[in-house]
Amino acid sequence: MSLKQENCIQEHSCEKIKDIQREIDSYQHCVERSLQEASTLNVKYEKTVNELSTIINIFEYINLVTDYKNLFPIINDMLLGVLGTSTSSIFTTEEDGFEIETSSIPRQQVKRMSERANILFEMRDQLLDTYILTEDILQDKFSIERGIKSAVVVPLNSKKKLMGIIYLEHTVENYFKVDDIKYLNTLAVAIRLSLENAQLYAKLEEMALRDGLTGLYNRIYFNKEMQNCLDNHQKFGLPFVLSIMDIDHFKKVNDEHGHLCGDLILKEVAQLIKASIRKGDVVCRYGGEEFAIMFKNTGELKSVIQRVEDIRFEIEQKVTMYSNKPISVTCSFGLVSSSALGKEASLEDAVRCADDALYEAKRTGRNKVCLYKIE
Ligand code: GH3
Ligand code: MG
Ligand code: MG
Repeated sequence: MSLKQENCIQEHSCEKIKDIQREIDSYQHCVERSLQEASTLNVKYEKTVNELSTIINIFEYINLVTDYKNLFPIINDMLLGVLGTSTSSIFTTEEDGFEIETSSIPRQQVKRMSERANILFEMRDQLLDTYILTEDILQDKFSIERGIKSAVVVPLNSKKKLMGIIYLEHTVENYFKVDDIKYLNTLAVAIRLSLENAQLYAKLEEMALRDGLTGLYNRIYFNKEMQNCLDNHQKFGLPFVLSIMDIDHFKKVNDEHGHLCGDLILKEVAQLIKASIRKGDVVCRYGGEEFAIMFKNTGELKSVIQRVEDIRFEIEQKVTMYSNKPISVTCSFGLVSSSALGKEASLEDAVRCADDALYEAKRTGRNKVCLYKIE
């Protein structure tokens, strides 16, 4: 082999080695890039897993609370802790604006935060999704004074209805990123479900205390409220008057006009009493055609007796048309005052004394008000 030929082979091998080296470099580069991408994805997945587990933990925790109103401050505290925001406030949607339910801001600023809610209410049509507030919206005096540089509105949407909003603020610029929107939306779903759950629970609890026909409170509620009245009288000397009333000859109404007519009369008497008592006083359906009225923090006994007389008169005057026939009923009332009962009286004592007075009203002619008197 000539020298020239040898050189040529050497040159060729060198080129080949360089090619291979280039190829290896390119593979290495590729592997490095893939590793970097995998690591970025890993961080992203880890973040998502962390966020999801936070949401599950929050959901589990807040679902333990079934009291609707108590739930708001609990959720708010948790949001501050989990999201690390400077402030957090929760509002519910009312007909003419957002009502503040809870806020981490100082008490003296709550009024101004409620005003801020009016601005947010005007944007409600845009609140189908989490909304990062733009800088120009944050140029108001209230935000500037407190050094608020970023804010986000998280809607609590329920079946396309805006149940309320969460309003989060931070003193750091651009604290809320587009990447956070998905997380905040999911968090909002968990919070909304817990709130709906608590609302449903409250509704069921309320239903258990109501009478199905008249909508008035039932005997279970009566017992609870009456015991409160007795306790308040014993501990703080707060006076009350209990009245148990019964529709006169009601069996005759049913017999002559049928049970449906009887039901209608019961509903109307219930509404009439409800409309006649003061806020704070309570009327319950005590039994079939019997009602109990608790007059609380009463002043002079004379004026309570007059109020009961007025109710009696109104019922007597009321005419209900049923199958084109005018129907009216009268009622008898038995009353007992806390002073007649004394401080040691039990629930049974109170009911027995009011019942005794009612019996007296029935015995002495019906359609009248009788007061229990200590013998
Ligand atoms: P008194 O003046 O002595 O109270 O006579 P009364 O007929 O009202 O008393 P009584 O205890 O004999 O009858 C009560 C009636 O009330 C009988 C019962 O069918 C009726 N009643 C109880 N609850 C309901 C109800 O939910 N609907 C209807 N329609 N009637 C009811
Ligand atoms: Mg009766
Ligand atoms: Mg009766």
